[in-house]
Amino acid sequence: MKIIQKFMTRNDCYKANRKIVPKGIIVHSTATPGVMAHEWCDIMNKSYREGETNRQVCVHAFLDDEKVMQCLPWDHRGWHAGGSANNTHIGFEICEPAGIVYNENRSSIVEYDVEANEEYFRKVFYNAVLLCVKLCKMFNLTENDIITHCEGYKMGIASNHADVMHWFPKHGEDMDTFRNAVKKVLDNV
Ligand SMILES: [Zn+2]
Repeated sequence: MKIIQKFMTRNDCYKANRKIVPKGIIVHSTATPGVMAHEWCDIMNKSYREGETNRQVCVHAFLDDEKVMQCLPWDHRGWHAGGSANNTHIGFEICEPAGIVYNENRSSIVEYDVEANEEYFRKVFYNAVLLCVKLCKMFNLTENDIITHCEGYKMGIASNHADVMHWFPKHGEDMDTFRNAVKKVLDNV
């Protein structure tokens, strides 16, 4: 798995330069069909304060079927959870494939071709597992320290977003199967 570092140095979050001691990982997905990892770093590398963007978000990495684009140092405090998890959790986004049709507020998918997206899904699922394994080893974490955005909301440490459970079940997966897959690799390293 290729990890390419391209830090978002113009993003106000990068400039804030606060450090964290990572206690966990939040898995997100972009809810933006067809925009791949290498595009995201440029899209997000903008300053809200200087009027270049209307969004104040910053995540540690974007991942697709080919690579991981790392946008922040792993121990940099990110702006991805919309809650206190920013103080403790590394966050990365899985890029979603083209062709997904969302409802109006992007909380659920109304049209999705499971068969056409199966191959892409398997690749990003596995890449996400490998990235989590790497981060677990780096920061002495286990699969139990990995959550997704909607779990973070239920725990009261993240904003009310549906990712990734609006998507994973379409391919028969959920966060428990994801954590199990991470554990399997961790146990074999
Ligand atoms: Zn999210």
